Amino acid sequence: MSTSSGKMVYQFGDGQADGTAKDKELLGGKGANLAEMCQLGVPVPPGFTITTQVCTGYYNNDNAYPDGLEADVAAAVKWVGAKVGAGFGDKANPLLVSVRSGARVSMPGMMDTVLNLGLNDETVRGLAERAGDKRFAYDSYRRFIQMYSDVVLGLDHDAFEDMLGEFKDENGHELDTDVTADEWATLIERFKALVEEESGEPFPQDVNDQLWGAVGAVIKSWQSARAITYRKLNEIPDGWGTAVNVQAMVFGNMGDTSATGVAFTRNPSTGTRELYGEFLVNAQGEDVVAGIRTPQNITEAARIEAGMSDPSLEQLMPETFKELTGIFDRLEAHYRDMQDLEFTIQDGKLWMLQTRSGKRTAQAALKIAVDMAEDGLITKSEAVARIDPGSLDQLLHPTLDPKAERDIIASGLPASPGAACGEVVFDSDEAEQAKAQGRRVILVRVETSPEDIHGMHAAEGILTTRGGMTSHAAVVARGMGKPCVSGAGAIHVNYDEQKFTVMGQSVQAGDIVTIDGASGQVMRGEIPTIKPELSGDFGHIMKWADEVRRLGIRANADTPTDARMAREFGAEGIGLCRTEHMFFENERIAAVREMIVADTDTQRRTALAKLLPMQRADFVELFEIMAGLPVTIRLLDPPLHEFLPHGEEEILEVASNMDIDPEVLRARVAELDEFNPMLGHRGCRLAVTYPEIAEMQARAIFEAVVEATGKAGTAPIPEVMIPLIAGRAEYDLVAASISAVHAEVEAQSGQKIEFLCGTMIELPRACLKADDIAGAAEFFSFGTNDLTQTAFGISRDDSARFMNDYVNKGIWERDPFVSIDVDGVGELVKIGVERGRSVRPDIKLGICGEHGGDPASVHFCHATDLDYVSCSPFRVPIARLAAAQAAIKDA
Ligand code: ADP
Ligand code: MG
Ligand code: MG
Repeated sequence: MSTSSGKMVYQFGDGQADGTAKDKELLGGKGANLAEMCQLGVPVPPGFTITTQVCTGYYNNDNAYPDGLEADVAAAVKWVGAKVGAGFGDKANPLLVSVRSGARVSMPGMMDTVLNLGLNDETVRGLAERAGDKRFAYDSYRRFIQMYSDVVLGLDHDAFEDMLGEFKDENGHELDTDVTADEWATLIERFKALVEEESGEPFPQDVNDQLWGAVGAVIKSWQSARAITYRKLNEIPDGWGTAVNVQAMVFGNMGDTSATGVAFTRNPSTGTRELYGEFLVNAQGEDVVAGIRTPQNITEAARIEAGMSDPSLEQLMPETFKELTGIFDRLEAHYRDMQDLEFTIQDGKLWMLQTRSGKRTAQAALKIAVDMAEDGLITKSEAVARIDPGSLDQLLHPTLDPKAERDIIASGLPASPGAACGEVVFDSDEAEQAKAQGRRVILVRVETSPEDIHGMHAAEGILTTRGGMTSHAAVVARGMGKPCVSGAGAIHVNYDEQKFTVMGQSVQAGDIVTIDGASGQVMRGEIPTIKPELSGDFGHIMKWADEVRRLGIRANADTPTDARMAREFGAEGIGLCRTEHMFFENERIAAVREMIVADTDTQRRTALAKLLPMQRADFVELFEIMAGLPVTIRLLDPPLHEFLPHGEEEILEVASNMDIDPEVLRARVAELDEFNPMLGHRGCRLAVTYPEIAEMQARAIFEAVVEATGKAGTAPIPEVMIPLIAGRAEYDLVAASISAVHAEVEAQSGQKIEFLCGTMIELPRACLKADDIAGAAEFFSFGTNDLTQTAFGISRDDSARFMNDYVNKGIWERDPFVSIDVDGVGELVKIGVERGRSVRPDIKLGICGEHGGDPASVHFCHATDLDYVSCSPFRVPIARLAAAQAAIKDA
C-alpha cells in the first residue's frame, strides 16, 4: 500500500533538478537549495532527495516505507553513479555518497551527516587505485566507520576517538594528516572489531545495507527525544517530517590541492560587506568546525586582519578563489539575502554543498537589510519586514563590551535587557538618596514590591534573588527599561549585615557590581559598556517603518526622564501617565500619607492642597517635553494601602515624622488592608469615595495646561483618563467632578482649555457596556494588563507559580501577560471596539500596558483597527517596527 502520493525521490545534478528553492516543504531546506543551485548552474555534486512525505508516510503507516520507494531509490542511485561515472558498490570504481538530513528549517536534534558511505573492505581498494592515493582512501574509510558507528549504530563516539588517539601515540603522530595509509588500514581493523564487540554484529559490508541503515536513521531521528524537544520549544509541527538527501561525495581530503570550507557572504556579526569564512586544506566535512586544526582565512584581507601566518585561500588557490567569490555573489543576488555556504575543493575543482540564509546578530540584520535596500536588491518594505522586532531589544540598551573581562559571581534570569553597573544598595530609600548625591547604584533585593518603585527608578539596575520573568521586579524593570537580573538563587542577601554572599564570597553594600540583564550574569567590579546607536541603520529602518505603519505609537511615561526617552525613541505622545508614581517621591509621600490618614474632608483637602503644586509642576514638565503631542493622564489608581508603611518599625518612624500617634497610623493601615487589593478599593472607586482626590488631580492638569500654554505658546491637549470603570453611572459621576473643576479653572484663568475625557477599559463588564460608556467617554484606552487579570481571574503577581505549568502543559501557548490572549481577552477588546464605535464613530482607541510592546499583540491591535498602542519607552521602536510589519502583511 502506498501512503504518500506523488513523486518520492527528486534528483539534482549537472545543471538540472526536479525541484527548486520553492519546494522546501517537500524537499527540506537543504534539498530545495541544492536543487536550486543546480538549476542556477552552480557546480553541485549530483544526488537526490527523498521527500518529507516519505517520512510522514512512514510514521502514518506503522513505520513502514511506502511501496516503490526502494525501487525509486535504486534508480536514483544508478542515475547518480552514471553522472559521476562510478557504481554504488562497484569494487573497481565505487560511488560514495553522503546521507544528510534536512527538515524545512534547520533543526538541531536531527541525525548528523554520514560521509563516505559505500566504502567496505573491497571498494576501499578500488577507490585507492582509482584515486592513485591509498592514504586518502583508507582515511575516508576510517572516517566512514567512525561516523556510521556513531550516528547510525549509536555506538559511543569517544571509544573511537580514544582508540584513534592511542593509535597516534603508539605510532608517534600528532596530527591525523600524519597517519599513513597502512596505519589507517590497521586502525580500520581495530575499529571493525570494536563495532562487533559493541553492537554484536560486524560492520555492514553490503553497501545497500549501509544506505538503508543511514536513510532509516535520518527518518527515525525525526522522532528522537532531542528533535521532539526542539520542535516543542520552537513551535515546529510534528507533521512536517524530514527529507533525506543522498549525494555523491566530493573529496576535500585528496591532498594539498583539496580543501573544505564554510563561509558567509557578509560578516554575520557586524553585517559588513565582506566575505567571511574559513577553510582547511586536505580535510573533509566538519573538520573545519571541529576545532582539531586551526582553520585558515579565505580572504587575504581577513588573514592580515587576524594576523594569521597560514596562507589564505586567495593566496593559495587564486583561480578557485575567484570562482568561489563569483558564485557567492551570484547566490546572494539570487536569494537576495546574506548566504551561509559550504564548499569543497577536490583536486582544484570547486563544489558547492549547501547554501541558506545566514543567521546574524541584530546589528548585522539591520546593516544588511539597509545596505540591500539601498542597493535596490530588496525594497524598503522587505528590509523592514526582515528585522525581528524582538531583536531590537538587544540594541536599545547599553551592552557589555564583549572584549572586557568578566568576573562572574552568579547568574539569574535575564529579566530585562541592558547592562548596568553601580554600588550595591539593599534599600530603596538609600538608592534614592545615593542617586540624589549623584552616585550610581544597583538595587539588590530578595524581591521587590510596589514600595520599591522609587528605588528602582533611582537605581541603574535591579538584582533580585527570588522571582521569575514575570515577577514584580522583572515586569516593572522592563517597563522602566532598566536592566534587571531576577531569581539569582545562589545569592544570599543579608539585610541586617548589609551584604550578600555567593559561592563563599561576600559583597558589601557600597561594593561595585555589574549586571547584564540580557544574559542574567552578575559580575564583580565595573565592566565597560557600549552605548546604543540610534542613528545609522537603525534610524533608516525606523524611518521606513514609520512610512508604512498605520497604528500610532505612544509611550507609557510617568517621569520627565521617561518622556524624553520616549520622544527620542519616536513616541507620538504619552498613552499612559500613571500619576501615582508621582506620589511615591520623597517629599510627596508625606503629604500623600497625611491625606490618607486624614479624618475629615477638610483635613484631606489640606493635605491635597500641598500635593497640588507638585502635581501641576509634573504635568507642566510633561506637557513641555511632549509639546504638540497628546498626553493621556490616568487619575490615581492603586489602593491607598500601597502608600502606607507596613512593618512596625516603619510605622513608628512614619508616625513620628508625621507627628501623630502610631496607634492612629496602625489603625488606618489595618483598616485599609484588603484581601484582594487588585479587586478592591482602587481605580475610579477611589474617586467615588474621595472625590477631592480626583478634583485635585484634575485641577493640577488644567492649571498645568494654562501654565504650559503661557510658556510654549501652544496649548497642550490632555486626555484625562478615569481608570477601572465598570459602567456608565460610575463614569458620569467622576467625569462630572472633572468637568466642574474644568469650568472653574477656565473661569479663573480666563482661558479656554481643551481636553478629552475618557476611560481605561480594563474590566470585562466595561467591554460589554462599551456602547453605554462611549455615550459619554471620548476615548478608550484598553488596559490589557488588568483586562487579562480580570478576564482570566488571575493575579499577575501571583501567576509566576503556575504559569510555567500552564505553558509547558500546552494549556496556554504563551504567557497571556506577555502576549495578548487573542481568543479571549482579544475578543473582549473587539467587543469594546465595536460597541464603542457604534455609538461614537470617531472615538479614539488605544491600548496601554505591557502588550503594547509585544509584536504579536501589536499585530492584533493593527487587525482590530485601534488608533494607537502605548508601551514603555524602550519598546517604542519595537512597536513601530511591529506595526509596520503588520501593515506590510496587510498590503
Ligand atoms: P549540517 O546540517 O550539520 O551542516 P551537512 O549535511 O551540511 O550537515 O554536512 C556536514 C558536512 O559534511 C558539511 O561540511 C558538508 O559540507 C559536508 N558534506 C555533506 N555532503 C557532502 C558531500 N557529498 N561531499 C563532501 N562533503 C559533504
Ligand atoms: Mg551537523
Ligand atoms: Mg551543513
